[in-house]
Amino acid sequence: MSKISDIMIESLQTQLKTALVLTPDSEGYEASLVRWSETGIKPAGVVVQAVDSADISTALLWAQKHGLDVAVKGGGHSTAGTSSSDGGLVIDLSRMKNVKVDPMAKTVNAQGGATWKEVDEAGAAYGLATVGGTVNHTGIGGLTLGGGYGWLSGQYGLTIDNLLSARVVLADGSLVTASASEHPELFWGLRGAGYNFGVVVDFTYQAYDQAELVFSGILAFTSERLEQVFEQLNAILAIPDSRSGAMCIFAQAPDGSGPMIIVICFYNGATEEGEKRFSGLIHLRPILNTLGMIPYSIVNTLQNPQATYGARKSFKGIFYEPPVDLKFARTVFEDFMAKIQDEPDLMQSAIILEFIDMRKICETPVSATAFASRNFTQNGIIYLRWTDESKDLEHRTWAREIQAKWKTKLDTRVIGQKREGEVPQYINYAERKSFPLLYV
Ligand SMILES: Cc1cc2nc3c(=O)[nH]c(=O)nc-3n(C[C@H](O)[C@H](O)[C@H](O)COP(=O)(O)OP(=O)(O)OC[C@H]3O[C@@H](n4cnc5c(N)ncnc54)[C@H](O)[C@@H]3O)c2cc1C
Repeated sequence: MSKISDIMIESLQTQLKTALVLTPDSEGYEASLVRWSETGIKPAGVVVQAVDSADISTALLWAQKHGLDVAVKGGGHSTAGTSSSDGGLVIDLSRMKNVKVDPMAKTVNAQGGATWKEVDEAGAAYGLATVGGTVNHTGIGGLTLGGGYGWLSGQYGLTIDNLLSARVVLADGSLVTASASEHPELFWGLRGAGYNFGVVVDFTYQAYDQAELVFSGILAFTSERLEQVFEQLNAILAIPDSRSGAMCIFAQAPDGSGPMIIVICFYNGATEEGEKRFSGLIHLRPILNTLGMIPYSIVNTLQNPQATYGARKSFKGIFYEPPVDLKFARTVFEDFMAKIQDEPDLMQSAIILEFIDMRKICETPVSATAFASRNFTQNGIIYLRWTDESKDLEHRTWAREIQAKWKTKLDTRVIGQKREGEVPQYINYAERKSFPLLYV
């Protein structure tokens, strides 16, 4: 790749009408490199903070003319650094966060650099919501293009199942609209494998009437309750309810008082319905119970305190077929906590298991989009967080070892146990990038 000269930068600046151009000498350059995980930070040769599609087009053509590496930054949550470039051009969309709601059509149009916070809040102002991420500072760009799960997936499917159209700047600089009727092949690819087809200027989503308040919150249990908690979670998922979901998290108590099992509960309905749904868990006498009626947009902030910016991070996806095997869960929990005791730098790490009603997601044929994993397998994440850079390889290797245990468990479970109506998905789980496909 060629080195970026002052003359090249001058020509870029002359061509750009509105974008901010940041080079290593510019004020704001270092700040523009910041990503959710320090592992995602790379020293860009130049950062173009675009404000419209013309900026994006100009920057793309300029980079190609000079044979430069190009990265696109949406919300900056890739732990693998896919939204950063070492010495090349970063097209940074963080100044493109506008969201427009059409309350009559019940659609939300959001620019490619928006986060779910902007989308959730704009929708809420009109009593609407769409399927977004469960941590609201995540970018809509990477999440949508990878598929996208959220608390509303049980009712409405994946984020891509609610994507109506996307306006995309292609490599030749042209701006096209991709939808079911325009550039349908591109639209197919964007939905699930979308990171490299172009730069998405904005996304238009189907939205739904959403009551302001939903039943949600956190239950926390001490470690001896693990088997009982999973018995309850297994029982809850065995009788799926599209309006309900849960997440079980193995973590250290924030006050350092020891290992905990945290369950985030979600029910898109009233208190009585939610309490009934989660009564088995509530009766286990959690040490913390914050369940109650809260705004839907606030549900997507519940994990923010554990998902702050800073430090080095790794996400490894795990996939499991419910019901969770209690003995296996116990072993994973103990191994994880022992590791954290040995390596206090990993103290803020967690293992997260999702319990989502997959029926709606599986209603869409696998061939309808580029998202390959429509099945009843549940998703989880091994989330490691540390500060010592010299431990990167060691920690990632360890996460892969735990991941391999889940894979073995899944492989042995899947054989011969297909559910009625389920299309078997013999995908190679080992090839799935960290975090379920979408978590690049
Ligand atoms: C704390 C946390 C919580 C998460 N929660 C969820 C969740 O609830 N549900 C879920 O499905 N996923 C979740 N994810 C995974 C998340 O969807 C992916 O990490 C996603 O890639 C992040 O998107 P981003 O725009 O923030 O990241 P970025 O690092 O900016 O981008 C990721 C990739 O997408 C590309 N990209 C981003 N925007 C555009 C665009 N406009 N046009 C073209 N390419 C673009 C980038 O080039 C890069 O390759 C979570 C991740 C984190 C870190």
